[in-house]
Amino acid sequence: MRQVFQSRLSWKLLRAVLLATLTVGLILSLVQIVFDAQQTRQLIEADAQRILRMTQGPATQAIYSLDPEMGEQVMEGLFQHEAIRTAAILHPGASTLAQRSRRFSELSTRWLTDPILGRQQHFRIELVGRPPHAEHYGDLLITLDTATYGEAFVRNSLVIILVGIARALTLGLVLYLVYQWLLTRPLKRLVDDLAQIDPDHPGDYKLPLPRGHEDNELGTWVRTANSLLASIERNLVLRREAENNLQRLAQYDLLTGLPNRQQLQQQLQPLFDEARRHGRHVAVLCIGLDDFKGINERFSYLFGDQLLVALAQRLRSRAGQHNALARLGGDAFALICSNVEEPHQAAALADALLEDFELPFVLNKRSVRLRATIGITLYPDDDQDAEKLLQKAEQTMTLAKQRARSRYQFYVADIDCKIRQRRELQELLTIALQRREFELVYQPQVDLAQRRIVGVEALLRWNVPKRGYIPPDQFVPLAEENGSIIAIGEWVLEEACRQLRDWREQGLDDLRMAVNLSTVQLYHESTPLLISDVLQRYALPPECLEVEVTETVLMDDILSAAKILHRIRQSGALIAIDDFGTGYSSLSYLKSLPVDKIKIDRSFVSDLSTDEEDASIVRAVVQLGHSLGMQVIAEGVETREQEAYLIAQGCDEAQGYLYARPLPAAELAALVGVQNEQLLSEPVA
Ligand code: C2E
Ligand code: MG
Ligand code: MG
Repeated sequence: MRQVFQSRLSWKLLRAVLLATLTVGLILSLVQIVFDAQQTRQLIEADAQRILRMTQGPATQAIYSLDPEMGEQVMEGLFQHEAIRTAAILHPGASTLAQRSRRFSELSTRWLTDPILGRQQHFRIELVGRPPHAEHYGDLLITLDTATYGEAFVRNSLVIILVGIARALTLGLVLYLVYQWLLTRPLKRLVDDLAQIDPDHPGDYKLPLPRGHEDNELGTWVRTANSLLASIERNLVLRREAENNLQRLAQYDLLTGLPNRQQLQQQLQPLFDEARRHGRHVAVLCIGLDDFKGINERFSYLFGDQLLVALAQRLRSRAGQHNALARLGGDAFALICSNVEEPHQAAALADALLEDFELPFVLNKRSVRLRATIGITLYPDDDQDAEKLLQKAEQTMTLAKQRARSRYQFYVADIDCKIRQRRELQELLTIALQRREFELVYQPQVDLAQRRIVGVEALLRWNVPKRGYIPPDQFVPLAEENGSIIAIGEWVLEEACRQLRDWREQGLDDLRMAVNLSTVQLYHESTPLLISDVLQRYALPPECLEVEVTETVLMDDILSAAKILHRIRQSGALIAIDDFGTGYSSLSYLKSLPVDKIKIDRSFVSDLSTDEEDASIVRAVVQLGHSLGMQVIAEGVETREQEAYLIAQGCDEAQGYLYARPLPAAELAALVGVQNEQLLSEPVA
């Protein structure tokens, strides 16, 4: 583009200059030619006068003497001149003494010169005697053919035109070069310099002053352009700032500086995408202040604003880097918690937020406590659309406010209920031990060959006042989460060993006690010590205590688990792997672990008679256990068919409703006393 511009400009300049000089050159040549024509006319006149003067004497002589011969000689002399076309010596009466003429010369330039010079020109001179008489004898007439003069005139004119053109062209070229040097080249440099300018930052580049043109119009142009560029840059910066401000106004809350609803919605989509990729949830917590209007009225709107800013600051620190925060409206905020694995994590965050609200805000020496109600929605469960999810969270918050304040509420009542129960249970769990709400029940373990009860598994029961028994599957994970399992586990171990001591004192001295160890306990440093300590305190032979560790727990961190199991083994207690078959044990590790017993998970036992695959698994596990020198016990045995199959496969022990449900200690003791006999007498189905 630039190239085109330059070439066009030079080309235009060259054409204009050449045209101008040629025109001027031609006009000047024409003027010169006109002048030349004038001179040629004068030359003809002068020539004619000269010839007439030269011939005047002889001609006067001839007419004076009336001598035609002499007249002829005069004619002869006259026709020596090339230009003479006719000549005559006339008497005053117009009779002729002598005359002669010849044809017009046929020069090719006649067509051009005849109109300018005339075809021929006539001249006359009087033939008079010598003074004093000066008598008029007659006239000498001559006619000049203009052709020869014309030819010279044309030749001259051609030279004039050619020289004129050459001069004009030379002048044009010189002028062009001068222009090129003075104008086009500096302009080209300017265009090159202009191309260096970054349109986004025009002020960054200063156009250099063209050398030698500092003080003329070009220099002025460059200086003006530079100040224009600087001012454009200033305006651009101002415009950018204005745009940023506008954007901030459109996307951020002016008071708190937090993103507004619109901006939050934009932030939500990428969070949703990431959560979807990782199979997680995103929790939207809509935090609505309780009775903020009242605070505004009680103090002042300005104070209310200051409170909101302080609250935003507090929420910001709670939100951290990974969560998004926004102000939805006057007294509503939204906190987005991404990558939530379980809904209860969102509940925990809501709890923490509500706890934060307990702390009063101290502003202008006034201490004010804010309260809030939180509505929670979960992506993708409650909705997949950002706007709707926000809306639902707000609705939930509004609904929750109607019921009670300073609380949180999940959008889905079902989850909300579960979370609430979970939270309540967790709270109750922390005091359950003090309140002596735990009990142990015992389920017998039967030796299939001897057909008698050889051990019991201690199973924990939690009897919550006004609620009844809560199954361990529900509360053990909660206790693991809040750490109370350590104290509970200690109590179980203590209680089971105390019970075993009791039974032994009652005469049930060959019973073995199986106690379940939770994940947290297994990896807890003090567990091995605790076991040896309790065994010593109750003076129990170590092999009468068996700890059950679930297979999945072992597989989580097999190396650490192995270390602790070896330490437990040192106390002499036996080790059983519970729920075997559910955790994909690595056989090589299994070999290296100090395990005495494998407990086949009840899911394999329950379908033994109907599911071929389960039957094969049970058979394989029995063989595997035996080949590793371990005992094998099946749990969840409910029917005689299951028992028969287990016996056929050589399984050592069985536990299940077929023999007894988990029983309180006293009932178990009675059962052992009485039922050992019955069991022995039961025929194998
Ligand atoms: P687990 O150790 O596998 O316990 C066996 C579970 O199977 C017990 O459920 C028992 O009541 C049940 N059961 C026994 N025989 C049968 C049967 O024939 N059919 C059916 N359907 N079920 C049978 P429970 O008592 O509800 O315990 C559930 C789980 O809770 C236990 O599984 C164990 O993992 C955990 N648990 C129980 N007590 C404790 C404890 O003191 N500490 C720890 N850490 N976990 C415990
Ligand atoms: Mg167990
Ligand atoms: Mg089990």
